[in-house]
Amino acid sequence: MPKSWAVFLDRDGVLNELVFYKDQGRVGSPLSARQLRVMPHAAETVRGLRKLGAKVVVISNQPGVAKKQLSYNELVRMNRKIKDALEKGGAWLDGEYYCLHHPNALIRKYKEVCDCRKPGPGLLRMAAEELDLDLGQSFFVGDSLVDVKAGKAAGVTTVLLGTMTDLLNRVIEEEKARPDYIVSKFSDVVPLITKLTDRN
Ligand SMILES: [Mg+2]
Ligand SMILES: [Zn+2]
Repeated sequence: MPKSWAVFLDRDGVLNELVFYKDQGRVGSPLSARQLRVMPHAAETVRGLRKLGAKVVVISNQPGVAKKQLSYNELVRMNRKIKDALEKGGAWLDGEYYCLHHPNALIRKYKEVCDCRKPGPGLLRMAAEELDLDLGQSFFVGDSLVDVKAGKAAGVTTVLLGTMTDLLNRVIEEEKARPDYIVSKFSDVVPLITKLTDRN
């Protein structure tokens, strides 16, 4: 049996929208299920990827619990909300892998310099092992260079969601994290990966 391949997905900024924290003037991950907005084309896109024969697996750093920004149960509720929206649209995930660690965690059991926290490749390797995936045939879609670095370290094809600007190009250069592909929105990954996996 040939191994399966996967499209790994970052969570925040890919499956759900980021939140603008006005008081801090920054954009970040949602911290409650109520705050979380699933991306408009998430279900349709995941369905499209599954139709290509990909396993779809979430790979995400979620240090908020460790930093006491939200409870573990709230994190579970957020993930449930995403999966409910996907299922409603006829799509589902083959796996979810979260790194809950943080080097400065306030909760002792999460305080760790681990290898699963992206940009480390640990979660990708763990998923490949457990789901019998060929990393060389797989893709990682994320909205941050941390995702690109993790993908490169694991040997998967990297796709960055974003818009190429002089600034982004410079940061990519400085961080030595050039993605294989850049697309402007999540739904664009279906035609891209269709083209890349077309073996005819
Ligand atoms: Mg992200
Ligand atoms: Zn970790």
